[in-house]
Amino acid sequence: MLLPGDGIGPEIIKEAVGSLNAIGEKFGHSFDYEEALIGGIAIDETGNPLPEETIGKIKQSDAVLLGAVGGPKWDTTDPDEPRPEQGLLDLRKEMAVFANVRPVKAYKQLLNASTLKEEVIKDVDLVIIRELTGGIYFGEKNRKEAEAQDTCSYSIEEVDRVIKFAIDVASKRRKKITSVDKANVLETSRLWRERAGKLLSGNELEYEDMLVDNCAMQLIRNPAQFDVVVTENMFGDILSDEAAMLTGSIGMLSSGSFGDSKPALFEPIHGSAPDIAGQDIANPIATISSCAMMLRHSFLLEEEAKRIESAIEAVLEKGYRTLDIMENGKEQVGTKKIGGLIRDEILEN
Ligand code: NAD
Repeated sequence: MLLPGDGIGPEIIKEAVGSLNAIGEKFGHSFDYEEALIGGIAIDETGNPLPEETIGKIKQSDAVLLGAVGGPKWDTTDPDEPRPEQGLLDLRKEMAVFANVRPVKAYKQLLNASTLKEEVIKDVDLVIIRELTGGIYFGEKNRKEAEAQDTCSYSIEEVDRVIKFAIDVASKRRKKITSVDKANVLETSRLWRERAGKLLSGNELEYEDMLVDNCAMQLIRNPAQFDVVVTENMFGDILSDEAAMLTGSIGMLSSGSFGDSKPALFEPIHGSAPDIAGQDIANPIATISSCAMMLRHSFLLEEEAKRIESAIEAVLEKGYRTLDIMENGKEQVGTKKIGGLIRDEILEN
């Protein structure tokens, strides 16, 4: 199921579909695609950022690949006007994908593209697990003439299921979990820390609690110290954008969102980048590598997933770069060109 959305969404989804088709050709699979509306384009066509028809199609699919939603055309501060981003929040809630997984690994070919020093980022290999369907983004909101409120609320069930998910991920990696909260100030964070302590103490994993402000600092100071970071919705949103810059560009990072049942949702971590939409300069790699996550987790096609990842690395190794990761001495190419190069690599022997 494809949800291209707004801005650069359709451009990057097109390149991702190209890579999936190349995998199909190479390995003898055929993928069936259904496309549906979400975000601003859905508001324009139906008045609703997540139309019923889209929800119906999602329920019949095995996996969902999303581009991005939003843009200045639909920006409004009027709480009664529909917003594209509401479509995204409703999608996550509707699909009940409570755990958002965002791997952050430094590509050796891009160590110079980061604003941080090579020795700080070269060993970065971490995963941020963000709670996705609770917290302040979903709590009750109020707006009056002279004041506004957003409510942050978490139940034990919501906290436990995402921490258990993180335990599962960490047990297949370097077995270290950092649980991030703001327990010195927030009641929801005190509940979070209590549950993390209960579920994580005394098992084989190395476990630490960290305050979110310290974590924001540690991600820049010494990011290689982290293995799995698990945190609530808003902290995860902010920390994962920060972590994206360790890899050089927000255009490089993929994500997968999972619940107890199918389908799962895969998307790049960046937004619709309206400033560069329609110019053939967006980096499609985050979306293409989200397809690798999809093949691995939704279709259990590990070899095919690795093929996409190694094709991306091979194209970077040959010196091709989109504008966001461009450096001296490399060849700058557009969205379509880099998508085509990755497809060709997938099809190579
Ligand atoms: P953004 O991620 O769209 O863009 C931030 C900066 O990164 C911009 O300079 C953009 O050009 C650049 N960028 C992003 N993706 C890129 C790519 N693939 N290649 C090259 N450069 C890239 O964030 P924003 O500007 O804060 O938000 C723009 C719109 O996107 C807003 O309407 C916002 O609500 C929406 N948004 C959507 C999602 C989503 O759909 N998941 C996530 C974040 C923001």
